[in-house]
Amino acid sequence: MTTLPKFDQFSRVVVKVGSSLLVDAAKGSVKQDWLEALVDDLAVLHKRGADVLVVSSGAIALGRRVAGLKRGALKLEDSQAAAAIGQIALARAWSLSLQRHGIVAGQVLLTLQDTEERRRYLNARETLSRLSAMRAVPVINENDTVATSEIRYGDNDRLAARVAAMASADLLVLLSDVAGLYDAPPQETPTARLIPVVERLTPGVEAMAGGAASETSRGGMRTKIEAARIASAGGAHMVIADGRVAHPIARIGAGGPCTWFLTPSNPVTARKAWIGGTLELKGSVTIDAGAAKALKSGKSLLPAGVKRVEGGFARGDCVAIRDESGAEIGRGLIAYDAKRAVRICGRNSRDIAKILGAPGRAEMIHRDDMTLAER
Ligand code: GLU
Repeated sequence: MTTLPKFDQFSRVVVKVGSSLLVDAAKGSVKQDWLEALVDDLAVLHKRGADVLVVSSGAIALGRRVAGLKRGALKLEDSQAAAAIGQIALARAWSLSLQRHGIVAGQVLLTLQDTEERRRYLNARETLSRLSAMRAVPVINENDTVATSEIRYGDNDRLAARVAAMASADLLVLLSDVAGLYDAPPQETPTARLIPVVERLTPGVEAMAGGAASETSRGGMRTKIEAARIASAGGAHMVIADGRVAHPIARIGAGGPCTWFLTPSNPVTARKAWIGGTLELKGSVTIDAGAAKALKSGKSLLPAGVKRVEGGFARGDCVAIRDESGAEIGRGLIAYDAKRAVRICGRNSRDIAKILGAPGRAEMIHRDDMTLAER
């Protein structure tokens, strides 16, 4: 039997909350008691030192009633307007609930491009990592007010999985109105069994997911399976659990019913495997012996250790790292474009702002963004 991961082993957890859990659609208000019980659970994680990130749906569900919109599908402009009205209330509800535990919330609204375009991805990732370093809890949603139908996620399951990968989280929790993945549609099949653990996403598993989605939650089981695929590639385990109970996270921790999707890798190795496997190198940096030694001991590459920069790369592109003899000793995602990298190479990080006229990252290539050749 597969041993399930222990809940207290996770150090960075993304929790996705579906609209139907958080919003009383008839009243158009937040289910306050439920939210507070959930936040109690999140505070326990936070207190033991884990980074907690929330992906919360509910903007449209909250806003539509205030905006006087009827039930049923909304026109794009109406859903954008409803989201604008609802998001402000949603953020306030989270912020106040977290505040009761002395935790600061930070609102982050993302669009599809923010996770898919490399430069914007790096920016968003840096913001999330700063928030975590400040021990603040990012409360994330899609920026529905500007997302148009062609360029939007539309469901927060996949958004949450991208966030988990982006933030190098080791666990993604999807709280929804089902207990997990069943071997047959549970509404129609009384004998349907809950699958406790999925070790690999096989076509058989995908077939079990079917398609259905309800009016308030856009993601059915299918988007959850897609989320599992994204999370797994990013090195995060994922768990789907029923959120319609008080303290749903504590319940998962206590071994309550849910479905685990396990990943074979961890966030750092997944990321590094991806960097190491990059086919398209856009340039190279040649570094001095001192820097090469520092990298081997697990440090980041600072501009001071760079002797030469070659190629025409943009910020976030993958470049080769060469030693003084020209041998490739590693690869990494560079934090500066070629023009700026040339200007700061060999210089002290303290002088970056003066040289470039704007502050920049102290590292040329951060150690998390780097993989070294085995030698
Ligand atoms: N972003 C949408 C909202 O906040 C929800 C998307 C979803 O239900 O997955 O209303």
